Amino acid sequence: MTVNKKNWKIGIDLGGTKIETVLLAPDGSATHRERIPTPRDSDLQIEYDSIRKAVFDLIQHTLDKLPGGKTCTIGIGIPGTINKQTRKVQNSNITSLDKKPFQQELEQLLGRPIGMENDANCFALAESINGAAKGFHMVFGIIMGSGCGGGLCINGQIHSGEHSIAGEWGHFSVDPLGERCYCGNLGCVETKISGNGMARAFEAQYGKKFTLEQIVQGYHNGKPDCVKAFEQFIDDFGRCAGGLISVLDPDAVVIGGGVSNIKELYTLGVEKIRNYAYHRDLQTPILKNSLGDSAGVFGAAWIGR
Ligand SMILES: [Zn+2]
Repeated sequence: MTVNKKNWKIGIDLGGTKIETVLLAPDGSATHRERIPTPRDSDLQIEYDSIRKAVFDLIQHTLDKLPGGKTCTIGIGIPGTINKQTRKVQNSNITSLDKKPFQQELEQLLGRPIGMENDANCFALAESINGAAKGFHMVFGIIMGSGCGGGLCINGQIHSGEHSIAGEWGHFSVDPLGERCYCGNLGCVETKISGNGMARAFEAQYGKKFTLEQIVQGYHNGKPDCVKAFEQFIDDFGRCAGGLISVLDPDAVVIGGGVSNIKELYTLGVEKIRNYAYHRDLQTPILKNSLGDSAGVFGAAWIGR
């Protein structure tokens, strides 16, 4: 997929709690932005139909903001991927989307093609084109939030892989004795170093319901259980990211998601990465994202068709 930089673009970022839209002018500036809550329902068919309608309505509303006579591309980032054979959604943590021809149905409703990509790939692309990893050839984008995802960009293009799972770093099984992940494997990276994974591991070990933020706070205050858990977290991060770098040897790694705000990742975490990667003098820049929450929606705009 070639990124066209000289047109108007609509980007939609579909998340578990909100759907965001942006309209980008040819110079890259955002001329319209809007957020709505993601419709959720215990009935998965009702939820799917409501999400599809919400995205369609949001696109129509954003198209209304396009200056007269202009055309635009439309791209959507989703928490999941499009299976290349069936063209249906797979591996989505919004489970109502799974096995649904979401892209094709939206294209039929809109009467035009649209781009659709994994949201972590959109994040990696945005940071690679216009964010913290701008100018690096091969960029691995890590998202550490409630879950753990990733995406790979080479020369400003997403590399999605034969099965559209390139960069799905969160589901390496790193601990066969670990917690069961929603994907079915035991001890995935996501169960170790995502916000939710850390909170569950802490509760299992210490019997206390702490968020990752509270654990970090406790570490700073010298609380022994928090110090122990946080040191384990940093070690897990180093082992998981070190292994990843040994496989790909990217030119830069950029981290997004709420967990990326933990400053020790870029000091203690990088030291651990050097211990675990297959090169003791590793120089790979481990960067904090510069686009924040906006990376997903900007990346979605960049993958439009
Ligand atoms: Zn998993």
